[in-house]
Amino acid sequence: MNLNELTIKEATEGLKNKKFTSVELTKACLDRIKKRNSEINAFITVADEGALREAKAADEMIASGKAGALTGVPFSVKDAICTEGVRSTGSAKILDNYLPPHEATVIRKIRAGGGVLVGKNNCDAFGHGASNENSMYGPVRNPRDLSKVAGGSSGGSAAAVADDMCIYSIAEDTGGSIRQPASFCGVVGLRPSYGRNSRYGIMPMASSLDTVGPITKTVEDAALVMNAIAGQDKMDATTVPEPVPDYLKALGGNLKGVRIGLPKEYFDAPGIESEVKARTLEVVEKLKKLGCLITEVSLPHTKYSIAAYYIIVPCEDSSNLGRLDGVRYGVRAKAACLDDLYAESRERGFPEEVKRRILIGTYALSAGYYDAYYKKAQQVRTLIRRDFDEVFKKVDALITPTSPFTAFGIGEKIDDPLLMYLADVMVGPAALAGMPALSVPAGEDKNNLPIGVQVIGSRLAEGKVLKIGQFIAI
Ligand code: GLN
Repeated sequence: MNLNELTIKEATEGLKNKKFTSVELTKACLDRIKKRNSEINAFITVADEGALREAKAADEMIASGKAGALTGVPFSVKDAICTEGVRSTGSAKILDNYLPPHEATVIRKIRAGGGVLVGKNNCDAFGHGASNENSMYGPVRNPRDLSKVAGGSSGGSAAAVADDMCIYSIAEDTGGSIRQPASFCGVVGLRPSYGRNSRYGIMPMASSLDTVGPITKTVEDAALVMNAIAGQDKMDATTVPEPVPDYLKALGGNLKGVRIGLPKEYFDAPGIESEVKARTLEVVEKLKKLGCLITEVSLPHTKYSIAAYYIIVPCEDSSNLGRLDGVRYGVRAKAACLDDLYAESRERGFPEEVKRRILIGTYALSAGYYDAYYKKAQQVRTLIRRDFDEVFKKVDALITPTSPFTAFGIGEKIDDPLLMYLADVMVGPAALAGMPALSVPAGEDKNNLPIGVQVIGSRLAEGKVLKIGQFIAI
């Protein structure tokens, strides 16, 4: 087995027992990136020199007995998350030359603990998309089948982990961007509860939904990363003060008596592929054999979630993206007057989908339309959240597919934004409700494309979600 194929747990054990050094492990990942990235396009920036420097420092930490759970382990970061001194483009040309002066809190925690940053992952620009085709640096290709998308928006992170270019990745999930690409690429992706992990230093997309979480090869690794990054942060007032449990410990024990709900709206979703549905139900059977109590439940407002999401998110997008005008950050177009400078910088610096969201959001927030659109969508969001609150009085977790279908072809949906938005049908509701949700690989379809099963938990129940997920992983 090559070093870059290891999980976090295997890597830290090997490092501790001096079977290899972090420099060797990091070189194995960098070699893999060199070999595969031209095809897969998972990285926009490779931090070779910095990574080797950090690996050397990590080896010293290990030698002096100061190693933590992620010391010396190479990881990658979605490019919509700021890394100090390492180019962070958000996959949009307007930030092509942007070197953040600050570091996202979650990344600071990992690097302070001896994590080794190998590079920045391609994504849909600013997280807008479900296929990674809305990147101005080209689409990411699915390592399982290069003619298919890797999913989005964190397609680069999921493909990098699936193709062993790094040991794990840190990504952002506003409405599915960790879970859906994880499911398309056959890896594990956890969206934590809103407020569990700090959002400081991520490029804000829809601030009331944005979360940061891990993409890993195993559920156990996701628990390890959560142990390192979760918690309140004075730089993000929306982080919650509740203590962070030990997620690794939460994996212990069995599933006897755990109450699982199957929301019927998800299993009847339009466009759901029969193989995806059948595989999810097989997983449910397995959980039943392990002692889970299974009941059908209903989340009646699910059908409004795409409509509400695609009002709320563009509104918040348009407000957040107002800061990117060519003056304060990144690339500035040459122009004769200020208005032209704004227009030209944005015209060249944003892809179509970003412009579409700014236009929709600005329109929906304008005087006279605010009540009809944004306010109404927020009211619907409350109903969606109440559905979850009600159902979690009766069950401990919900099991659903992560996506109605497996990875689709590159180019297949890109010209039809509405079709693309429908890809979020199973990942959007939990995001609107602020609940934690995990995608776990659960086999493949007849074309060898991974199928992901989703576990949704109640607020701050990441431990429970991970525990159930661990039994699903095969
Ligand atoms: N498909 C979702 C969107 O385009 C994904 C967003 C996200 O989680 N960053 O809005």
